[in-house]
Amino acid sequence: MKVNGTLVWYYAICKREVWLMSRNITPDQKDTNIEIGRFLHETYYNRTKKEIEFGNVKFDVLLNTKDELIIGETKKTSKFQEASTMQLLYYIRELKRAGINAKGMLLYPEERKRVEVELTEEKSLLLEKVENEIECIMNNATPPPVVKNKYCRSCGYREYCYA
Ligand code: SF4
Repeated sequence: MKVNGTLVWYYAICKREVWLMSRNITPDQKDTNIEIGRFLHETYYNRTKKEIEFGNVKFDVLLNTKDELIIGETKKTSKFQEASTMQLLYYIRELKRAGINAKGMLLYPEERKRVEVELTEEKSLLLEKVENEIECIMNNATPPPVVKNKYCRSCGYREYCYA
């Protein structure tokens, strides 16, 4: 498995989750949070949403002006804004590598909130560091240990980690 936007997102949440995802260990699909997230993803912003796949990048195009593309990601809650920002920065950087200038927009339909995301030099360096660390985690034969954090309660792997 290669580094992708989803793993970048999980890295900001829990490094153990990165390893589990990279090994295709499926989280509990009956988890309420996963269901709500899926519902929101499928229903909100449907009129403007057009999912685009570009290599290992998947996003919703919001606006394509003469000079730039604005890509958006719909999220359930801004509670994970740091992770969502990193994920969107990863998508923007992948587009940049292909010669496409883009900015990002995080969408929180439940909160009626939008946040602009821009790839700066500093963010680019941070992203590189994160990608290197994700590769190290994936290359390890065993997962990082369980480190209890505020996301465990709503994590689809909690039974796996705390059984
Ligand atoms: S339950 Fe907690 S430690 Fe386990 S993968 Fe989820 S967030 Fe990480």
